[in-house]
Amino acid sequence: MSFVTRFAPSPTGRLHKGHAFSALTAWTAAREAGGRFILRIEDIDPTRCRPEFDAAILEDLAWLGLDWETPVRRQSEHLADYAAAVETLNRRGLLYRCFRTRKEILDAIGDAPHGPAEAVRPGPHPADEEARLLAEGRPFAWRLSLDRARDTLGGAAWDGLSFVEEGKGPEGETGMVQARPGTAGDVVLARKDAGTAYHLAVTHDDALQGVSHVIRGEDLFEATHIQVLIQALMGWPTPVYRHHRLLTGPDGRRFAKRDGSVTLAQLRADGITPEALRAELGF
Ligand code: GLU
Repeated sequence: MSFVTRFAPSPTGRLHKGHAFSALTAWTAAREAGGRFILRIEDIDPTRCRPEFDAAILEDLAWLGLDWETPVRRQSEHLADYAAAVETLNRRGLLYRCFRTRKEILDAIGDAPHGPAEAVRPGPHPADEEARLLAEGRPFAWRLSLDRARDTLGGAAWDGLSFVEEGKGPEGETGMVQARPGTAGDVVLARKDAGTAYHLAVTHDDALQGVSHVIRGEDLFEATHIQVLIQALMGWPTPVYRHHRLLTGPDGRRFAKRDGSVTLAQLRADGITPEALRAELGF
């Protein structure tokens, strides 16, 4: 099997040390395996993605000494592909329309500020309500029905959903891991504003691009459970997963775009060389 891996950042901010570690981990693995390294720009979120961050990603990774195949796939240029996948699932009765707002969903599940809005199962609207909302032209998302997914796959296949973890999940999960798609809720596969959503676009592209190894941070380990289900429903292969630890700053907290933690641009401006950064990160 040929080894194909990818780094798939979203251009919602400048890259920081955590991204550098992730990109270097994937790039080095591809080199060591004599395989291919793909850079994919995951820019389906029209409210948070910005072209200047996209350009900066390429600049920062090149500064770091990475190279990648061209052309780079930008998800925003392929929305028709994702729409076709949504249509396929929809024709098989696996999706339902959800007109609810994030607030309505949170209110409905009570005061659960920690539950991400997607980890819920609001279920389809009653037919008359749905007809009215549609007639009013209200925007809606498409959610994947776990009930329908289980019926479609059959109990044995559902129970057998699994993936190979060559790294480690946050609880030390490794080796053959049984997928638990049920815990993710009826996830949104097509957002109101974007026509697609992360889980669908990422699994679509991993399959299309022949990704054999998904190498990414352990913060995305939970996402794997639902991604394995989508792969089974779409007949897409399940890659091998290699989740890596997340880097933390001196305060013990993980790097995150929202903290304005040290960006590669800032390190560069401070005179840090790419060699020094690579060495610090263990490469
Ligand atoms: N685009 C996602 C992110 O920026 C990563 C997707 C993935 O590696 O599966 O967090």
